[in-house]
Order: sequence, then structure tokens, then C-alpha cells
Amino acid sequence: MSDECEFLSKCGFFQNFSGNSETVKEGWIKIFCKDKDKSETCKRSQIRRETGIAPPDNMTPTGKLLV
Ligand code: SF4
Repeated sequence: MSDECEFLSKCGFFQNFSGNSETVKEGWIKIFCKDKDKSETCKRSQIRRETGIAPPDNMTPTGKLLV
């Protein structure tokens, strides 16, 4: 079983912002995307599971929007 987020391969935030300096500084990818249990608390994954719709790519796992 994977120990990564189930949405990793189709997550716009992961695809587009994994090299972003703030993303790296905050460690969101390491904390959320690469940890299956923690990924379930990610705001993006919660929205996706509840609505079936992907949130904006610039929404971080904490719900903060990157500008
Ligand atoms: S940002 Fe959230 S939904 Fe996207 S891959 Fe990371 S943990 Fe999963």
C-alpha cells in the first residue's frame, strides 16, 4: 500500500508548486503529500473527497492560497 496521498498523481498543487520556495520552506509536500495519514487532513484532499472537485491549484494543504 502506498504511503503517499491518494491524489498525488492528479493534484494540481503537487504538480505545479512542489518546487515553489514557500512550499519547500513550509515543507507541505513532505508533511502532507508524502504521508498517507497526514494527507487525509489536507484541506485539498478533504475538499476533493467531499465535493469530487479539485480545488484551485494554488491552494495549499493548510487552505492558504499562494499568490
Ligand atoms: S496537496 Fe493535499 S491533495 Fe495534493 S497531493 Fe498533497 S496531500 Fe494530496
